[in-house]
Amino acid sequence: MELDRETLQIFADQFIHRWDRYPIQNGDGSYTGVKWEALTLAHVEKHIRGNITLGAYALDADSRARWICLDADDPQEWDGIKNLAVKLSNQRVPAYLEPSRRGGHLWLFLTPLSGRDARRFGKQLLKEHNLETVELYPKQDELRTGPGSLVRLPLGIHRKDGRRYHFITTTGEPLAPTIRAQIAVLANPARVPQPFVKDVLKRAPKAKRHSPTPHFEKRSQVIGDTPAEKIKNAISVYDFVSNYVQLDRGGRGLCPFHDDHVESFSIDQERNYWHCFAGCEGQTVIDFWMKWNKVDFKQAVKELAGMLLPPLP
Ligand SMILES: [Zn+2]
Repeated sequence: MELDRETLQIFADQFIHRWDRYPIQNGDGSYTGVKWEALTLAHVEKHIRGNITLGAYALDADSRARWICLDADDPQEWDGIKNLAVKLSNQRVPAYLEPSRRGGHLWLFLTPLSGRDARRFGKQLLKEHNLETVELYPKQDELRTGPGSLVRLPLGIHRKDGRRYHFITTTGEPLAPTIRAQIAVLANPARVPQPFVKDVLKRAPKAKRHSPTPHFEKRSQVIGDTPAEKIKNAISVYDFVSNYVQLDRGGRGLCPFHDDHVESFSIDQERNYWHCFAGCEGQTVIDFWMKWNKVDFKQAVKELAGMLLPPLP
């Protein structure tokens, strides 16, 4: 297969947000093999030829996104996002369907947006179409540590089943007859019209922001002999951390302290501590804040006291 390098470059630029490192998919479908070296067009070519399978990070180094990807994990969710694609195309909003192993992806190409707004846009769309269980990429509003979430770069081979998945139209036809023709289409995808994005964002709830600091309800009295003890008694780890990390109802989420793709971070609500299975150490609200704000214990206690404790008389 002859690949036109210029088209390949434009295709890659649509999907790939950063070239300073790249993840490779393993045989079990996971992406532990992050290569700490520059990604090149030669790698992208190998991906298309099926020699390797690349993942594409969902945010660039400035936490901006050129696409969102809705990830349907089973046939039922897949039907849901195919329906969404039809409804969107009726509103002249282009959306690209990519079947996968169990379900599939719906890609929406954007005029670059902050990760926060890209996610607000995606979440609102899912909510309005009763698809809230469908996963949304990017998974982070903004990068704190590590490059964040990723999706398999399209048109390569899924390492787990050895198959290559073509894009399809809303009626189930191939988007273009050959991989080469698909690359050409995806190199210049139609973007979601700006007025549509703005309208959806107008209806979307405002995002929680990291700064300014979220407002914590201060209790008039907090038990504890030291400021550190008082801080730990002033708020549960779950209530505090959920202002900063996207957690599911069970208290799990992507660890903000390492390059996490498998939701290693969890909170034990009963025993009131956080834990990362990949070994990022800590337990309390204070440990969390030391890592989050990159401050020492003394500074963390000072900052948290200001946020959580009643002012000194
Ligand atoms: Zn971690």
